[in-house]
Amino acid sequence: MRIILLGPPGAGKGTQAKSISNKFAIPHISTGDIFRKNISEKTPLGIEAKKHIDKGHLVPDQLTIDLIKDRLNNEDCKNGFLLDGYPRTVNQGEALKTLLDEKGHSLDTALLIEIPREFILNRMTGRRVCLTCGASYHIKFNPSKVDGKCDVCGSELVQRADDAEETVSERLDIYEAQTQPLIRYYDDKKLLSVVDGTKAIDSVFESVCGILGEIEE
Ligand code: ADP
Ligand code: ADP
Ligand code: ZN
Repeated sequence: MRIILLGPPGAGKGTQAKSISNKFAIPHISTGDIFRKNISEKTPLGIEAKKHIDKGHLVPDQLTIDLIKDRLNNEDCKNGFLLDGYPRTVNQGEALKTLLDEKGHSLDTALLIEIPREFILNRMTGRRVCLTCGASYHIKFNPSKVDGKCDVCGSELVQRADDAEETVSERLDIYEAQTQPLIRYYDDKKLLSVVDGTKAIDSVFESVCGILGEIEE
């Protein structure tokens, strides 16, 4: 299965992606996680990406497109993948299409996790993440078992600098201007499916499984 997740920051893409990746045995590829890993290791990519991410802006398309091109050439993507946080611009969507066309592959669906703007601030300011494995928690809605430690790998949980209230509103504006047009883009291609992201985590996952289960058959 070849799937992309769409939805504003805080919609629950990363949270659902972990469960989808386990259940359907496809690699979860999060551009945000890849950037954060590079930032913490201070690689050249990380140093460049940080300049944009800290301001709540998108990392330039070409950098992101090259990164995903490289990642999708990996052996583990041969039979499918789940993209979380890519594409974020129509330009990135076109680049993905070209890449898949070249391989004779196609996307199965673009799954939109829909959530109104007023839900988002609470989700993002309460988010805590693991930089080692990418797991995402919420201090109220999805706390880790041991305070401040990742359930999956035991690493320390941190608050993302770009989840500060000031940056969140900038990110939402950018989402609306640059990423939202992808909804129409995939709808026109008859590839869009939608779930209600305001429901509890398990119930969102149930809806997701309904949609992906049908595709798998
Ligand atoms: P995204 O990857 O779309 O930015 P995350 O998966 O990181 O979103 O989720 C954002 C925050 O909201 C996290 O703190 C997560 O634990 C929490 N969260 C995710 N899904 C739900 C949900 N359905 N209900 C309540 N909180 C959620
Ligand atoms: P969220 O969980 O809030 O949706 P991500 O973890 O996916 O955020 O991304 C964090 C930041 O990394 C984004 O705000 C952006 O600056 C950068 N980023 C991630 N993916 C992309 C992309 N496909 N194109 C450009 N920038 C990206
Ligand atoms: Zn972890």
